[in-house]
Amino acid sequence: MAGRVIVVSGPSGAGKGTVVRKVLAARPDLELSVSVTTRPMRSGEREGVDYHFVPRDRFVAMRDAGELLEWAEVYGHHYGTPRRPVEDAVAQGRDVLLELDIQGARAIKRALPEAVLVFIEPPSLDDLVLRLRGRGTEDPASLSQRIRAAYEEIRSKTAYDHIIVNDDAERAARELLRILDQNRKENPT
Ligand code: ADP
Ligand code: 5GP
Repeated sequence: MAGRVIVVSGPSGAGKGTVVRKVLAARPDLELSVSVTTRPMRSGEREGVDYHFVPRDRFVAMRDAGELLEWAEVYGHHYGTPRRPVEDAVAQGRDVLLELDIQGARAIKRALPEAVLVFIEPPSLDDLVLRLRGRGTEDPASLSQRIRAAYEEIRSKTAYDHIIVNDDAERAARELLRILDQNRKENPT
């Protein structure tokens, strides 16, 4: 019995992390793929929990050794999905959630056509800017880079199987849970 791969994408500040945390709390059997990244750690983040924070040469070595299922440059840093944990989870029948940018989502869909792609968007761009500012994690350059990228990211949402508007995080989490349950019913493994 194979597990499923569920990809969550959306512009920075849409609330992906917030919604995913709620879904994981409700479904302890669901696994979260922990990416490797070259971006600096934010305060409050933990090594091995939010990301594996690695220097660029380590990232390149992992990529060149084929240890990454997909990788991309996003907002000026490198991000990649370690291959083994995802393949092991799927082989052992556990569902695994990947939080990826739009390039990563496309790459996963090409490699694993049965993957479920979910796009999380904010109610409006004004909300997105307020949320990103409110989070207080980005310097002005990173903030404007993320806001500029949001237009292009939101345009790509038509490539996704499901779109969730994160107006209210609890409601959005329930919607994602419903998508997971629905997909399980339609594709029993
Ligand atoms: P992402 O992972 O998509 O970059 P986050 O989960 O970090 O986004 O959320 C960005 C900010 O918006 C955080 O400060 C978070 O607390 C807040 N936030 C998330 N969802 C909502 C919501 N539905 N309404 C208001 N604020 C939200
Ligand atoms: P952040 O710096 O805000 O944590 O993440 C920036 C962007 O990188 C987000 O869109 C996030 O989904 C994406 N991302 C995180 N990990 C990966 C990954 O392993 N691969 C890809 N392609 N994107 C990732």
